[in-house]
Amino acid sequence: MEKTLADLGEFGLIGQIRRRFPAPEGVTGIGDDCAVLPQKSGLESLVSTDMLVEGTHFLRDGISPYDLGWKSAAVNLSDIAAMGGKPMATFLSLALPADLSETWINAFLDGYAELSGRFDVPLLGGDTTASPDRICINVTVLGESPYGRSRLRSAAVVDDLICVTGPLGDSAAGLKAILTGLERDADASTLIDRYCRPVPRVAEGQELRLNLGVHAMMDISDGIGSDLQHILDASEVSAQIDRSAIPLSLALKRVCARQGWDPLALAIGGGEDYELLFTCTRQAEMLICVPHFVIGKITKRSFSSSAGPDWQVSGFDHFKKR
Ligand code: ADP
Ligand code: MG
Repeated sequence: MEKTLADLGEFGLIGQIRRRFPAPEGVTGIGDDCAVLPQKSGLESLVSTDMLVEGTHFLRDGISPYDLGWKSAAVNLSDIAAMGGKPMATFLSLALPADLSETWINAFLDGYAELSGRFDVPLLGGDTTASPDRICINVTVLGESPYGRSRLRSAAVVDDLICVTGPLGDSAAGLKAILTGLERDADASTLIDRYCRPVPRVAEGQELRLNLGVHAMMDISDGIGSDLQHILDASEVSAQIDRSAIPLSLALKRVCARQGWDPLALAIGGGEDYELLFTCTRQAEMLICVPHFVIGKITKRSFSSSAGPDWQVSGFDHFKKR
């Protein structure tokens, strides 16, 4: 039978594209949170693009248009934060069904404007087209860092500590709460808010970039189970993770206890937390003022077993059969 994308998987496809289109010398291309293009001015430009598709990333009755606008901007700024960069501008492309109400569109733009305004990032262009029935949103974000200072996924070093900037699993639990129609008490609302209105760790990313002992960095979009693997593969190292050190919010613990959900499975396999995952030396870790949690350490690449830690649950892949 002919192979399909379900066999190849999202990352198999990206790997194929990457092999066909290698980046020119001095440029970081496919494979990191952003592309990095050196500029003559002592800076480097950061570029990333992300798509949100109705039915895949969101359901029209699962998230308000305001929150969707907020989230579309937020997830893109998060990729600049992941490099330690400063977001400079976004471009917004919309494919929309003709029967979408003006109220919906205005609420979407209100949410987009609110998030962009908080980080002082202007919207400078985009594209608009009709879509037969589904809403599709694409945002491109531009950012910058001092030359050579963006944090890549490939920079982890053996004996580095592995850290995250905040609790994991809230967003996945928030989505589950929406999908199962959970009663919106204070805890459930906290989780739903984390899913609908993620806050990109922009200031935190830039602060971490100032610390030269902070090595590899990325944002957690697919779930740490698969996201950490990207750092391990890019850096050719392995990791030891202390699952009991993975930070879980009180809201997550309480809702999981009540519903019989597994909080660690949500924290490891659930995506869209948009916290930063980074590695750093032990000395550097003592100087970090940004809130963070040490969850493990980088080890020498082991070829005997699987290269990464044994999570038992993995993150999100767009095409893999589940
Ligand atoms: P993120 O979760 O940080 O947005 P992705 O997992 O979506 O990153 O993508 C991983 C890498 O693959 C990124 O460098 C991205 O630019 C690149 N990429 C993804 N899809 C494509 C594509 N269709 N063509 C070229 N590069 C792609
Ligand atoms: Mg990313």
